[in-house]
Amino acid sequence: MMEDFGGKTAVISGATRGIGAAITRNFLEAGARVIGLYAGNTEAAARFQQEHAPFAAQLELVQCDVAKEDQVSSLFAMIEEKYDSISILVNNAGIRRDAVLAMMTASQWQQVIDTNLTGTYLMAKQAVLLMMKNKYGRIINITSPVAHLGFPGQANYAASKAGQIALTKTLAKEVARKKITVNCVSPGFIATDFINNLDQDLLVEYKKMVPMKRFGTAQEVADAVLFLAGSRATYITGTVLEVDGGL
Ligand code: NDP
Repeated sequence: MMEDFGGKTAVISGATRGIGAAITRNFLEAGARVIGLYAGNTEAAARFQQEHAPFAAQLELVQCDVAKEDQVSSLFAMIEEKYDSISILVNNAGIRRDAVLAMMTASQWQQVIDTNLTGTYLMAKQAVLLMMKNKYGRIINITSPVAHLGFPGQANYAASKAGQIALTKTLAKEVARKKITVNCVSPGFIATDFINNLDQDLLVEYKKMVPMKRFGTAQEVADAVLFLAGSRATYITGTVLEVDGGL
């Protein structure tokens, strides 16, 4: 039976597409109030809103670039005024700008670090300040197996994801006494827009690398997030839950 998240408020970045959309839907179905962030794809956000019309009273979508300190500060000022505090933060927003390192531009490097790592820092900092009021919180950061495996063409992405894990382990120790847990979920290859635009031959090769011989679904990742956010994960903090078919 699904745990009841009634009375809990969750902030989820990258909430209207891919893995984030499945995470958001899970929390809505479990009764949580969700503040869902998207970066700029207003079409996808409108579609998500429409498809989740029965949950309208629980859902607020906000356009917010997690890499921009002023936008994140305004977001949390709004949240504090309207909802007082939050219980759950899922840092799911992420981008990739692949190039082998020798050809990687400073802009490709910076964009990925800014969104994936600095975004996680900015959001987690504000969330922790609110969560401390209630001495309760769950922070879940979406990392990637490339953080420890490495992957050609993804030095920026791998560094940002490894940074997220280091941030997670550190923050977990800092806030443990406040009853705030901080964990990562690490999805393997998941069939979303994130990888769907890759070369078909490459996708066949990637599938061969997975011991389960298939890509995962956004729902499989979302279920791991819901578990870490729930009441059965009270003693789990500073860890990485891998949802990757055995990579
Ligand atoms: P998608 O590309 O399908 O969706 C990315 C989401 O992040 C979109 O909602 C997008 O908003 C949002 N986003 C991007 N940049 C920002 C920003 N600066 N501020 C706020 N929101 C932003 O990706 P996935 O769902 O596949 O990936 C989600 C997470 O999972 C990422 O962190 C990714 O690194 C990680 N991951 C994915 C894997 C996969 O195989 N798919 C594997 C391992 C990890 P908008 O819709 O407005 O563009």
